[in-house]
Amino acid sequence: MSEQIVEPKIRGFISLTAHPDGCAANVRQQIEIAQIGSPSETQGEIGNVLVIGSSTGYGLASFLVSSFGYGAATLGVCFEKEPTETKPATAGWYNLVEAHRLAEVNDLHIETINGDAFSDEVKQEVVQAITERFGQLDMVVYSLAAPRRRDPDGTIWNSVLKPIDEPYTGKSFDLRRHKVIDGMFVEPANQDEIEATCKVMGGEDWKSWIELLSSNGLLARECRTVAYSYIGPDVTAALYRRGTIGRAKEHLEKTANELDAFLKPTDGGAWVSINKGVVTQASSAIPGVPLYMSLLFKSMKQRGTHEGVIEQIVRLFTDHIGPGQTPILDNERRIRLDDLEMEEAVQREVLERWDLVTDENLDELTDYAGYRHYFEELFGFDVPGVDYKVPTEVNRNLPNA
Ligand code: NAD
Repeated sequence: MSEQIVEPKIRGFISLTAHPDGCAANVRQQIEIAQIGSPSETQGEIGNVLVIGSSTGYGLASFLVSSFGYGAATLGVCFEKEPTETKPATAGWYNLVEAHRLAEVNDLHIETINGDAFSDEVKQEVVQAITERFGQLDMVVYSLAAPRRRDPDGTIWNSVLKPIDEPYTGKSFDLRRHKVIDGMFVEPANQDEIEATCKVMGGEDWKSWIELLSSNGLLARECRTVAYSYIGPDVTAALYRRGTIGRAKEHLEKTANELDAFLKPTDGGAWVSINKGVVTQASSAIPGVPLYMSLLFKSMKQRGTHEGVIEQIVRLFTDHIGPGQTPILDNERRIRLDDLEMEEAVQREVLERWDLVTDENLDELTDYAGYRHYFEELFGFDVPGVDYKVPTEVNRNLPNA
C-alpha cells in the first residue's frame, strides 16, 4: 500500500507524475464513447486484435474500440514505467490498469505486454501469447510513437524533429512559460539524423512485425493492418511533413503498400490512416504543434467538428476498417480521418490567426486553455470529478505486464 497526494510536476511537454484516478476516469469516458459509437451488434464482432503502442493516445483508443466496442480479444504492447513504493507510474500504466479492471467486469479478454516493441524478446513474447491464448489475428494496429529504437545488435537510433535542407525560423510556443515565441530557429537535420528518424518512426518495424506474425501462421485470412500518420497544415510543414518526421511518415505510407501486396493473397490489407492532430505525449513535443493545435481547436470547436482520439478511432472502425467495411481512400491509398481538420475554411482561419497571434491576444484567438486542459488530462490531472486533495493508492498492479 502506498497512498499519497499526487500533484502535477509539469516540465514543458511532459509531466513527471500521473494521477491514477484521473487516468482511470479518462479511460472510463473513452470506453463509454467506444461502446456507443461502435455498433458491434449491427456491424459484427472482431475476433483477435494486436495493438502495438496500446497505452496512450491513438493506440489506447484503438485498444479500447477493439475490445469494448467490438468485443475483440485484444493484446496490447506498450512501454510504460510501473509504480514504485513511493513514485507514481506513468499515465499509460494507469490507463491500462483501469482498462484491465473493466475488461474483467465486462468479461472481455485483454492482455498487455509491457516492454520494448523493437526488441526480439518482446516480439517473441507476443508470438507466444497469441499462439497460446488468442489464436490468429484479424487485425494489427501499429501505433508506436517512440523517441528512440534499440536494435537487437545494440545499435541505437534517435529520432529528431528537424527541418530538412533549410533551417526553420518561425513561430512556436513555449509550454514552460506559456508564451508565444517569434523567431524560433531550428537547424536542418543531417543525413544520419534523417536516417535515424526513419528507422524509429518509418515502416521498417511495422513490416518486421507483420512478417514475423505471418511466418508463425498467426495472421487470419482477411487480416487487416493499419498504422497512423499525419500530414497537417502549411504552417508546420517545414518542421513536420517536409521535415525528418515527415520523411519517416512517407516511409511508413510506402510500407503500407508493400504490406498490402504481401497480404493480398490471403485477402487481407494494409493501410495508413492519416489522423487528426490531437494532444498526446508524442505530439506535445513537436515544435510549433501546440500553437497550431490551440488555433485549430478554437476553429473546429466553433464549427462543432472538434474530435479527440476516441472519436477518430470510432470513425476509423465504423467507416473504414471495421467488420464489413471497405476503407475509403484518397488518391495515394490513404484513409483520411483528418478531413475535418483540413477543411479549407478551418485552415484559412488558422493561417490568418497564426500570423496575428501574440501573448496579448492568445486567449482571444486560440483555445490555449483547451489545449492546456487536454495536456494535463493526459496525465490524469484537471479531470472533472477527481478530488486531487485526497491521497490515492499509486501502487496499482497491471495484470501480467
Ligand atoms: P502516444 O505518445 O500517445 O503513444 C505512443 C505509444 O507507443 C504508447 O502506448 C507508448 O507506450 C508506446 N511506445 C513508445 N515506445 C515504445 C516502445 N519502444 N515499445 C513499445 N511501446 C512503445 O502517441 P500518439 O500521438 O498516439 O501516436 C501514435 C501514432 O499516431 C504515431 O504514429 C503518430 O505519428 C500518429 N499520429 C499522431 C497524431 C497526433 O496528433 N498525436 C496525429 C496523427 C497521427
